[in-house]
Amino acid sequence: MGSENSSNEPPIEGGASYEVADRIVECSHCGSKRFEKSTAQLNTAGLTFLGLDWANRNATILICARCGHIEWFLEED
Ligand SMILES: [Zn+2]
Repeated sequence: MGSENSSNEPPIEGGASYEVADRIVECSHCGSKRFEKSTAQLNTAGLTFLGLDWANRNATILICARCGHIEWFLEED
């Protein structure tokens, strides 16, 4: 009774959608809008070789739930 049974449903993506600067974050690789959120500190020794000693702060990491691409956003103080 009105129930649809498609045999070719794509798997439901995990994660959630996030907004940065009033825009829904979209994966720059695959276009997915579903991400897992994490955070990282940028003041680790491993990043100094990149010249990021200015970045003594936190970043928000959004990991694409579909392809694993990582989008980085510096957190505002
Ligand atoms: Zn992606």
